[in-house]
Amino acid sequence: MKKTNIMICLVGMCLLGCQNQNNKIQYNVDRFYDLEVLRYDVPDFDQLTLQQKTLVYYLTEAALQGRDILYDQNCKYNLAIRRTLESIYTAYPDKQDEQFLLMEKYLKRVWFSNGIHHHYSEDKFLPEFTQEWFGKALLSLSSEEWVEYGWQDNYDTLMAVVFDPDVLAKKVNQADGVDLLLTSANNYYEGLTQKEAEQWYAAHKDNSPEPLWIGLNSKLVKTAEGKIEERVFHVGGLYGEALEKVVYWLEKAKEVAETDEQRLVIEKLIDFNKTGDLKTFNEYAIAWVRDLNSRVDFVNGFTEVYGDPLGITGAWESMVNFKNIEATKRTTILAENAQWFEDNSPTANEYKKETVKGVSAKVINAAILGGDCYPSTPIGINLPNANWIRKEYGSKSVTIENITAAYDKAAQGNGFNEEFMFSDEEVKAAKRYGALTDNCHTDLHECLGHGSGKLLPGVSKDALREHASTIEESRADLFGLYYIADPKMVELGILPDKEAYKTAYYKQMMNGAMTQLVRIEPGKDIEEAHMRNRQLIANWVLEHTDDANPEVEWVRKEGKLYLKVNDYEGLRRLYGELLAIIQQVTSTGDYAKAKELVETYAVKVDPKIHQEVLERYKKLNLAPYKGFVNPVYTPVTDDSGNITDIKVDYSEGYAEQHLRYSRDYSPLPTYN
Ligand code: ZN
Repeated sequence: MKKTNIMICLVGMCLLGCQNQNNKIQYNVDRFYDLEVLRYDVPDFDQLTLQQKTLVYYLTEAALQGRDILYDQNCKYNLAIRRTLESIYTAYPDKQDEQFLLMEKYLKRVWFSNGIHHHYSEDKFLPEFTQEWFGKALLSLSSEEWVEYGWQDNYDTLMAVVFDPDVLAKKVNQADGVDLLLTSANNYYEGLTQKEAEQWYAAHKDNSPEPLWIGLNSKLVKTAEGKIEERVFHVGGLYGEALEKVVYWLEKAKEVAETDEQRLVIEKLIDFNKTGDLKTFNEYAIAWVRDLNSRVDFVNGFTEVYGDPLGITGAWESMVNFKNIEATKRTTILAENAQWFEDNSPTANEYKKETVKGVSAKVINAAILGGDCYPSTPIGINLPNANWIRKEYGSKSVTIENITAAYDKAAQGNGFNEEFMFSDEEVKAAKRYGALTDNCHTDLHECLGHGSGKLLPGVSKDALREHASTIEESRADLFGLYYIADPKMVELGILPDKEAYKTAYYKQMMNGAMTQLVRIEPGKDIEEAHMRNRQLIANWVLEHTDDANPEVEWVRKEGKLYLKVNDYEGLRRLYGELLAIIQQVTSTGDYAKAKELVETYAVKVDPKIHQEVLERYKKLNLAPYKGFVNPVYTPVTDDSGNITDIKVDYSEGYAEQHLRYSRDYSPLPTYN
């Protein structure tokens, strides 16, 4: 699962326009520092059967019970700080006090980051309220709270944790040349040096063909006697109080599983949580990959390893979701017609596959975000992480449609398109077609683009070396761009008319040549492969337009620079030409040509354009990072206590939600 910061969403994805949204929902919930809190809705929840809804409900409860675990994993003082702040927040008499309001702002940030470090930069953020005020505010805590949160015994330490910029400064340190464990503030290791941990892992490594992921669910601690102890996360062990609750809800979920395959997944996960046995975890992961026919699906447990400086231990996360049938139909239609697309592509025949198999990817709606997926969340899931399981049993890859739709919805009217699009015409079209063509282009890219074409005999798939990813992403993007304008898309019922594709074209040019630069610091080159690919396409096109009648051109209007597309069909021709070139480079493994394309068009940034884009973007005052509040699920029961329905509510506020979670889903002790 890849966590995507919102900049990528703003730039890489659609900004405007999404049909079928419930207008009553307030999508923009809160805004503070560089963060914005949004709301997503869960379309089609009402279409689920009562059994499926009940299953979702039980799984959402299991998802919320793990929240404390992530706080503790991120830093051992996080629960103490959060609970202290929440107690002051509730008990402090003067809610209009200026210092109190600064504390509220800080607390909101702690909730957003699941702790005291920025969720993206990993740096510790400092409060704006004074230490003096905070010292006094602490007096509104009860004496039990003083003991429980640690103020009684460790007052100075806790004060330094909050106020001293040098104490626990970085959550996960990745810098070269220092001890990554001693300089990281998180809580995956205690008292060990990096070397000691690495030696321990080396000594315990499983080299069998079906290896156990040693360390996935444990913390290494060096005892007072200098012994290294592995504290495993399971019921009865570390984080047992929370995992016990997770198991409680999983047991209920098991009773309403949709299929035998799904029941097996839940059973294995229950076992794993109880025992911490990594062999059971492998069985669980395999069962999960094989569970393809259930509509409801979920992730719950120790998953991604970005939080561990050594990349071994998983951060606790959960996401419950169900298949979006309509959107999945779209990808199925494309996959079924894969051969037609291959045969009609503008590439040379010798580079085409004789038989092509489309990849059918699943589109889902998230029902709840938990742990490391909350409030900031990925927009796609690709699991499991164990390579041998992926190779032997495959993996599941999904796009989370209701989350991307919420980003789109929340961005409506934020001024971005108005600022960077040439005229009202493009803005209006983007509003109407933006979300649709964006999803459609992603589908073409993923389901067909990457799988199209073939290498000539004897050509190594590593031939393009460091330029391989950029060229491959360009190939998939161009395949999508070429076909999104094809009448076939309307014929297949995927696009409504022959105008829609123009929005995808305009946005590709604008994003590739201009607006994606908001993510690049002044003076820096473009490094990331997807970004290089986008600029490669846009700049190549701009360089190959017809001199007399340019298909697309730079224009200055009222002092501002814009791209103006004059001839969309001509633009399609150019995309097709470049696709043919890129396919040739790939099929023949032409490293020199790949290098030339990347170095000429993809890496260097025009400093004047860059500066102007940054200045114009800054004036829009958009929050670069976004996260979400969850819907609230409430069971409706009859007189005998049987569940007859599950109601979804979208009105809960940000602070309200976190205070409720801390009250109702907070089973862990303050120090673990
Ligand atoms: Zn791709």
